[in-house]
Amino acid sequence: MVTEDRSPVATPAKPGVSAGLRVRVDQDACTGDGLCVQLAPSVFEFDVDGLAYVKDDAGELQTTGGAYVPVPLPLVDAVVDAADECPGTCIYVERPDGTLEAGGPLG
Ligand code: SF4
Repeated sequence: MVTEDRSPVATPAKPGVSAGLRVRVDQDACTGDGLCVQLAPSVFEFDVDGLAYVKDDAGELQTTGGAYVPVPLPLVDAVVDAADECPGTCIYVERPDGTLEAGGPLG
């Protein structure tokens, strides 16, 4: 009997980078320099206050401070790079279990 493999396929963009990541910005520490907006413009955008916020997969800006959005798999590299290079150390990329994948003051 042939059984069909229905296991989900998740291909991390970078070795060691897990799928199912989510990202948030701590606006209290954002410098407004715009590095994240340059690196991943479909995930980060400035609001009228000049600080970066995250956008959902429909492009809706999440203007509640600290709101999370899922990281689209093709953008994992760009979002992780933004978190690694964020001058305010205020981008948090978290795994499904809440542990930090990248960013934050200790990232
Ligand atoms: S890179 Fe960091 S400090 Fe700069 S705008 Fe984005 S969230 Fe703010």
